[in-house]
Amino acid sequence: MKAAILSIGDELTLGQTQDTNSRWLAGRLADRGVRCVEFRIVPDELSAQARALRALADAAEIVLVTGGLGPTDDDLTRDALREAIGDGAPLVLDQPSLAALDRWFKDRGRAMPEINKRQAMRPTTAECLTNDAGTAPGLRAKVGKAIVVCLPGPPREMEPMYARFVEPLLPRLEMSTGVVHSFGQGESFLAERLGDRMHRDRNPLVGTTASGSVVSARVRGTGAQASVQAIDQELAEIERIWRPYAFARGAVTLAGSLGQALQARGLTMALAESCTGGLAGSLVTAESGSSAWFRGGVMSYANEAKRDLCGVAQSTLDAHGAVSAPVALELARGACVALQADWAASITGVAGPGGGSDAKPVGSVFIGVVGPSFEAVRRFRYPGERAIVRDRAAKSALALLRLAIADRDHFTAPFIWEVKDHA
Ligand code: AMP
Ligand code: MG
Repeated sequence: MKAAILSIGDELTLGQTQDTNSRWLAGRLADRGVRCVEFRIVPDELSAQARALRALADAAEIVLVTGGLGPTDDDLTRDALREAIGDGAPLVLDQPSLAALDRWFKDRGRAMPEINKRQAMRPTTAECLTNDAGTAPGLRAKVGKAIVVCLPGPPREMEPMYARFVEPLLPRLEMSTGVVHSFGQGESFLAERLGDRMHRDRNPLVGTTASGSVVSARVRGTGAQASVQAIDQELAEIERIWRPYAFARGAVTLAGSLGQALQARGLTMALAESCTGGLAGSLVTAESGSSAWFRGGVMSYANEAKRDLCGVAQSTLDAHGAVSAPVALELARGACVALQADWAASITGVAGPGGGSDAKPVGSVFIGVVGPSFEAVRRFRYPGERAIVRDRAAKSALALLRLAIADRDHFTAPFIWEVKDHA
């Protein structure tokens, strides 16, 4: 099946809003093995919309349209669809949609404004699609041989409607996908380890991507290899090859995988952050339900805060400096005690661009990990600007904590930014 996507709105063609709907829809279609042959973006202009609809209906079997279903004069998708159908019939009022609109406003204690009535209008041969998240119903109709489905522009309304009204129109699943995420090694190192698995004519097909220092292997199986078992087997094999850097599959983040490791064992964690200033805590608390396993963090930026809040000895600070293995260790110990957590990670380093020295150049970061009968410090040197150093340091702390808890035998596996000999 071939698909085409039409995005409608002046805000898009004026460059004010990014068309994210097309990308989202094309991704979902690709997941179902449906190839998108064209994207178009047109303004709130009737003739341009009708022209685009006719052209796309010629080029594809299913055309997905978003935007222009609102109640105002610039919302012309209904009229454009009527023109593209080309039967000369005027729009008609859809009574069930009108009733649904009425209810939508009543439920919110308001009377329906007269202009919203437009939203219940449809071409005679079209069907209205209910929208549970907003006022604009969608539309489905035939234009030539193609099925056209019009959905509202706001992603939070469009996405559930796609699942409900578009997915059932797609061919039976002939392709399925899966993903494994890793942290701690570079894409080339990890891709090399996958060897022949990355051959472009292999099924399942494996490809790697890197984003925010997380390297992912994406698996796509077609035909006989599209089964859940085939994908699962491939993902398991990649996890084995990428051990201990692989941390999760699917939509699970690094912080989420750490949370799973803690929660499975009934354990809690804390953080002591210096150069990351709460970034690791922010990643952790972005996970819903993290209160079950995250006790809190100390943002111990100044030496005095390291000393007074995390119990780092003044003598340790004097002897080794704040960016040092002994201070990292004492910070992690202190965070465990201060926040009564089973495990803690600490981060102390030079994020740059200033503050570096020969002994501790910019990007030098010590990460301490402390837990029941476990203590370790690792030293890293992250290349890149301040934001990248901080991001990698925060993620490294979470990854190391996860390893110490879930895969301790592999805790010492080096990360790409590892500085081996440190005192
Ligand atoms: P509309 O359905 O045309 O009234 O669109 C309402 C809102 O949905 C717009 O103001 C945008 O914020 C959003 N929107 C519309 N089209 C898109 C799109 N293609 N991608 C992302 N957001 C969109
Ligand atoms: Mg609009």
